[in-house]
Amino acid sequence: MIVALAGGVGGAKLAHGLAQCLTPENLTVIVNTADDFEIYGLRVCPDLDTVMYTLAGIANAVTGWGVADDTFVALEMLRTYGEDTWFQIGDKDFATDILRTRMLAAGRTLTEATRALCTGLGIGPALLPMCDQPVATVIQTADGELDFQEYFVRQHHEPTVTGVRYRDIETARPSEPVLATLAEAEAIVLCPSNPIVSIGPILAVPGMRNAIITSAAPKVAVSPIVAGSALRGPADRMLESLGHEVSAHGIAKLYADLVQGMVIDEADAALAAPIRGLGMEVLAAQTVMRDDRSRESLAGTVLNFATSLKVAAG
Ligand code: GDP
Ligand code: CA
Repeated sequence: MIVALAGGVGGAKLAHGLAQCLTPENLTVIVNTADDFEIYGLRVCPDLDTVMYTLAGIANAVTGWGVADDTFVALEMLRTYGEDTWFQIGDKDFATDILRTRMLAAGRTLTEATRALCTGLGIGPALLPMCDQPVATVIQTADGELDFQEYFVRQHHEPTVTGVRYRDIETARPSEPVLATLAEAEAIVLCPSNPIVSIGPILAVPGMRNAIITSAAPKVAVSPIVAGSALRGPADRMLESLGHEVSAHGIAKLYADLVQGMVIDEADAALAAPIRGLGMEVLAAQTVMRDDRSRESLAGTVLNFATSLKVAAG
C-alpha cells in the first residue's frame, strides 16, 4: 500500500499521478479536513472534494476548486434570496455537499460519507479524511483571528499570517482505516501541499505523527516550494511571516523528523547538499505538474526514490 498525505490542489495533482502508476487497491490518500466548514446549511470539505474530483477526472483545473464546466444557478438563486454568496459553490458541487450533509446528519462518519461519494464517482483508490471529528484551521493576524475560509476565500489570503492554530484538534484522532493503512504502508508520500495549513493539520491529529514515524515504510516529501515561491496560493508568504525559510530547504527542515527523502525541483538542485545536511536523501526532479503526463512522471519518480530508500535501509 502506498499512502499519500494531501491537501487540495498540489496534493490532488500528485495523488492523481500516483493513481496512474498504481492499481487502485494499492493507493490510499489521507486528506486534510481542517479547511472544512459549514455554509448555506451544508458541510463543505474543500480539500476532500478537490482530491475526489481530480481522481474522478472532473476537477476544474482553471479555478483549482469545484467541478469542470459547472453552472451556478443555485448560487444565483441564493443571491436572489439576499444571501451573501461570498463562497462560491457550483450546482454539481452543491449536490456533493447536499449528500454529504445528509449522510452526516443520519449519523454516518465523514469517512463513510466520503467512501459513498467516491463510489458514486467511480474512484478506485481509497480517500480517507484525516479524522472524523471536526477540526478547523484558525488564522491569526494583527487584526485578530479569522476562520480559514474567511482568510482564504473572502479576504483572498491577503492578511499577513502571524500564527495558525487548529481548533478542536485535541479531540481528534486518526480513524481506524487511517491507522490501518499507515500500519501496512510500503511508502508514505507527503504531497507538495501547503506545509502549514494542509499537511500541518494532518500531522497535528493526536497519534498521527507517531503512527507515521513508527511505520517501517520509507517516507518521502515533495517540496511545494519551487525556486523560492509557491506555484499558487499563500504558502510562500505564510512560511515567511511565520519565520520559516521560504525554500525547499525550509520545507525539508519542517519535515526533518519525519522523512528520509526529499524530492525537490531541478531549479533548486543547489539546495540538495544543505538538505542532505539535515540527514535525508535528496532527489532533484521536474516537480511542476502541468498535465496528466507530468503528474504520472513525478509520481513514478517519487515511488522509485522511496523504493531506493527502502533498499538502502534494508
Ligand atoms: P490547497 O489546499 O488547494 O491550497 O492545496 P495544497 O495545500 O494541496 O497545495 C498548495 C501548494 O501546492 C502550493 O504551495 C503550491 O506551490 C503547491 N503546488 C501546486 N501545484 C504544484 C506542482 O505542480 N508541483 C509542486 N511541486 N508543487 C505544487
Ligand atoms: Ca486546502
